Amino acid sequence: MRKTYTYAITEAESKYLKTGMRVAVPFGKNKIYTALVFNIHKKSPVLYVAKDIHQILDEAPVVNQQQIKHWEWISNYYMCALGDVYRAALPSAFLLESETIIFKNDAFKNDLELGDDAFLIFEALQNHSQLTINQVCDILDKKKVLPIIDELIQKNAVHIKEKIYEVYKPKLIRYIKLKDKFNNTDELKTLLEKLSRSKKQREAVLLYFQLASNSKQVKVKELQDKANISLSVLNTLISKNIFEFYHLQQDRVSFKGEVSDLKVLNEHQEKAFLQVKQSFEKYSVSLLNGVTGSGKTEIYVKLIKEFLDKGKQVLFLLPEIALTTQIISRLEIYFGDYLSVFHSKYSMNERVEVWNNVLNSKTKAQLVLGARSSVFLPFSDLGLIIVDEEHENSYKQFDPAPRYNARDTAVVLGHQHQAKVLLGSATPSLESFYNASEKKYGFIHLNKRFGNIQLPNIELIDLKEKYKKKRMKGHFSDRLIQMINEALNEKEQIILFQNRRGFSPVVECTTCGVSPQCPNCDVSLTYHKYRKELKCHYCSYYRAMPNACDACGGSTLDSKGFGTEQIELELKELFPDINIGRMDLDTTRGKNGYQKIIRAFEAQEIDVLVGTQMLSKGLDFKNVSLVGVMNADSMLNFPDFRAHERAYQLLVQVSGRSGRSKKRGAVAIQTYNPYHQILQQVSTNSYVEMYKEQLQDRWQFNYPPYYRIIKITLKHRDYLKVDSGINWLAKALRNSFGSNVMGPTEPVVSRVRNQYIKNLTLKVPPKQSLLKTKKQIQKIMEVFEAVKDYRSIRFIIDVDAY
Ligand code: ADP
Ligand code: ZN
Repeated sequence: MRKTYTYAITEAESKYLKTGMRVAVPFGKNKIYTALVFNIHKKSPVLYVAKDIHQILDEAPVVNQQQIKHWEWISNYYMCALGDVYRAALPSAFLLESETIIFKNDAFKNDLELGDDAFLIFEALQNHSQLTINQVCDILDKKKVLPIIDELIQKNAVHIKEKIYEVYKPKLIRYIKLKDKFNNTDELKTLLEKLSRSKKQREAVLLYFQLASNSKQVKVKELQDKANISLSVLNTLISKNIFEFYHLQQDRVSFKGEVSDLKVLNEHQEKAFLQVKQSFEKYSVSLLNGVTGSGKTEIYVKLIKEFLDKGKQVLFLLPEIALTTQIISRLEIYFGDYLSVFHSKYSMNERVEVWNNVLNSKTKAQLVLGARSSVFLPFSDLGLIIVDEEHENSYKQFDPAPRYNARDTAVVLGHQHQAKVLLGSATPSLESFYNASEKKYGFIHLNKRFGNIQLPNIELIDLKEKYKKKRMKGHFSDRLIQMINEALNEKEQIILFQNRRGFSPVVECTTCGVSPQCPNCDVSLTYHKYRKELKCHYCSYYRAMPNACDACGGSTLDSKGFGTEQIELELKELFPDINIGRMDLDTTRGKNGYQKIIRAFEAQEIDVLVGTQMLSKGLDFKNVSLVGVMNADSMLNFPDFRAHERAYQLLVQVSGRSGRSKKRGAVAIQTYNPYHQILQQVSTNSYVEMYKEQLQDRWQFNYPPYYRIIKITLKHRDYLKVDSGINWLAKALRNSFGSNVMGPTEPVVSRVRNQYIKNLTLKVPPKQSLLKTKKQIQKIMEVFEAVKDYRSIRFIIDVDAY
């Protein structure tokens, strides 16, 4: 709902109710929804008669005032309904409605704990696989049943249907190793002689050696299976002090391990830490720009500790939780009893639990580690917000509304709580670096890797030349193959990166690697297969698909890319004996998909990990000495004004996975454009140069951080409707904003789920009032929606669109 609705309550109810409590309300025909009390007042609505509320659901507010203020900001800034924020913010278990479907939790055994009505429903669920809330009403012959459902949920007796979610179960993997003293050959000989009479035990030891020669870590289960021995044989060997067990633990939610002391910071970290604290005295937001592997996490840890000690709440934001098992386990070691993890993929009950713990300022939720939606939690006393990898575009919610950027939303949240906000990245977003250079944010630079290991040596490999000289095997250059061989010989691990996106709409000449560019915008043109046209994503310039390359005259223009799967296949042929892992959307879909692969790679069961950009995100593998980028060009040519910035970030981040702990690592980047300025800047680690150059472009073409971007999208099944609607809208917007209106344009995928899509982009100059601009857009939208023909068109506004 775009606006709020007024319901009638009695005087007694008005004394009891508080803003932030939930009430069940009737809406439309026979439907009951969960609503939130937003304001208690005495103004009757003019256009309708206020209905009575159905019943009160809470004894105390589940949403606090600070949140409501924050939500209002989000709704105003991102131009969405308050209801959209409410839906996104509250765990779905709080949003029961008459259509909600409930299921029995088979693991629930304490049915005697349930109240009479709840028990009845639980019983009914033995016979019916599922019940709607309406059916529950019928069974109990009652209208007011939501508190009963609430009870069933709180006691974990039922689930409600929602998007499929993953439950992160703690998982321990047991490994086995020989006691250290047997590293000595003589000791080993004696041992094998001693064991000569117990055949099984001797076999186990011998097989252990075989397995240990392939991977450094040996799983108990693997040894057991391969040697075909029982656990008791292994236990005997343990009790004889020959073997020992150890665990690698990836427990996420409930922490039972031991807490360890914080690491001692090295001099550079210590200096940065002190600078952050100084910066906090002057600025509410600071940017920590520390190169990959500089040990930013340990600095965060020390800051977190200080704020926890002061009794303050701390929020640690990560771009994607699924990828950051590593950070979770690192923080758990220090803050186990204070740490809660919050993520939309967690089960409903886990989310409700974290919500309630934060609401009640419980110690175990004093530190929340979460993805973007954790900015909605009911914090009451935030002291510190850390936004790790602040440049990541997954902080921006693309669909549905609220289309918010969690980084920017966190900055506002910080202001509200008078908390300090620390943005961290090795490759800051242009926006944040700009804010820092404009002295809006404090700035701390950390340019040394931990352990004084040099940043990896980055080599650019010229594909054009390699193809010409026939030095390619599939997509592998002879140089890359050589480097892989060297790393394998040293028993070091390798990451190969291929950024294959869902489609590859940019056309590239196979001879010279040049892509046709838009004359008006700083982007590559996009190939539209259907009409055989090249189009600009931003300004609607188009031309026919040429027969030959503009640059070199070559006649093979290629729009096909190659993906991770193909790389994996080629690799298998080149190196038949190695273990290869693949990490992309296809292999990580299942439950715990990421963790499995990451764990296997950490345990060195995998020699080469092939993957997409998932690999770039904050992972810390000790034994990786080579990162290979199969083809950097598709990133450079992606049709987006942020393409170059993002390519730089992505390449520096993947490169940063190499050589993190022992010695300087190597990076090989294969490209047709070794002289491209972005690749040069990546290879010389010249962030500031990249920044200045990109900023120049942004200035010239009126993009952020100078101009703001508001994107308007129309969607409808009927193409003509969308077309006429967007033209109407373009005219109306141009009347108000003139040439700052770009488009209409069609996105690359111009029809999704049978909906035709058209876009307009409004560039808002720095001096133009954002508030007035939004008001004007709002007005135009209201007129648009009053046109009968257009009423059914979906109207989407995306502020600060990516
Ligand atoms: P970043 O996040 O800046 O890329 P990390 O925080 O992952 O870097 O640190 C890189 C590596 O250095 C990690 O393996 C980490 O455990 C180690 N490390 C960082 N600081 C310290 C320290 N003060 N003492 C011991 N090890 C450290
Ligand atoms: Zn253009």
